Amino acid sequence: MSKIWVELADIPAEGREFSFADQGFWKESLEAFGLRAVLARPLTAEVTVLPQDNGALVRGRLSGAAILPCGRCSEDFEQALDEEFEVFEETGGEGGAAEEARVVSEGGQLRLDLGAVLWEQFVLALPENPLCQEDCKGLCPKCGGNRNFRECGCSEAGDDPRLAPFRNLKIS
Ligand SMILES: [Zn+2]
Ligand SMILES: [Zn+2]
Repeated sequence: MSKIWVELADIPAEGREFSFADQGFWKESLEAFGLRAVLARPLTAEVTVLPQDNGALVRGRLSGAAILPCGRCSEDFEQALDEEFEVFEETGGEGGAAEEARVVSEGGQLRLDLGAVLWEQFVLALPENPLCQEDCKGLCPKCGGNRNFRECGCSEAGDDPRLAPFRNLKIS
């Protein structure tokens, strides 16, 4: 993933705003992480970076849309993304001792990898269990047909072994 370095010493105490619309960064990162998602609309980020003694406060908003496969029927659908965030990134020490640190010290100067922060927010904005629609009917376990498109007519009750104990249950 490409780094987007921000020199914290160049930023005044009241912070600085960054507008981020470089789509190449997202494409490259999606490929690097092998994520099966494409962007339906350009992903944009408005970010304010505030330097702190031992790191930086990063707050902003990420918005756009991604094409994701539905977790139930695996059909691709468009997921709108709109994420507000505020994170504190602590410095990882000289030369970036901590591999994960987004704020590293280079020759006594703190710099922030804004790319890593944005990428993390993008991943967090993705739904954990993406669904093409709230009540997606999913795939038929018998014929594999997408039940959102057509009723396949396979009998549903009857053959699920998990339901067998309940089959002769009488509810009075
Ligand atoms: Zn679905
Ligand atoms: Zn079926």
